[in-house]
Amino acid sequence: MSREPKRTGGKEDAQELVPILREAHARLRLWETCDKAGCRRCECCGGDVDRCGAGAAPEGWAWLRQVLNAMWGGASQEAAVEAANFAALGYRARRTVRWHVKCWDPVEFVQLKDGTWVRAFDVPSRPPLDPKFFALAASPWLRDALADALRADARRDTKMQRSSA
Ligand SMILES: [Zn+2]
Ligand SMILES: [Zn+2]
Repeated sequence: MSREPKRTGGKEDAQELVPILREAHARLRLWETCDKAGCRRCECCGGDVDRCGAGAAPEGWAWLRQVLNAMWGGASQEAAVEAANFAALGYRARRTVRWHVKCWDPVEFVQLKDGTWVRAFDVPSRPPLDPKFFALAASPWLRDALADALRADARRDTKMQRSSA
């Protein structure tokens, strides 16, 4: 089942993701390095979580937002993480070459920003982020939180269709 991608990158229209971002901010303990004393005191984010997250860990936060947006658009958790990794590393595509020779293993290639193809084995598969971001993005918590948000969104859509019918 695929969904119409709803997100276009504008952050004001991702309201459904705000509670998830808030929880992610807490689980990553990003308040520890927040420049706002209020956040450090309450060990939470009391204001604009997007601003706080981006301030505390710009690359990690942008990467996580990308994972969330892709999942909100219907991508699986693994596919969303891989796409965010590729985007952060600047890779353009991936290709698997299968040899028509017995016992030759398929070889994965990735296309770099300049268009050249290199063996995936020779280049990093993850951007250099704090490992806690990868752990959070792969966690069952994130998968369940997104599934709940998508269910709530689908219910709202159904209600709206009913009331407009
Ligand atoms: Zn905050
Ligand atoms: Zn803060």
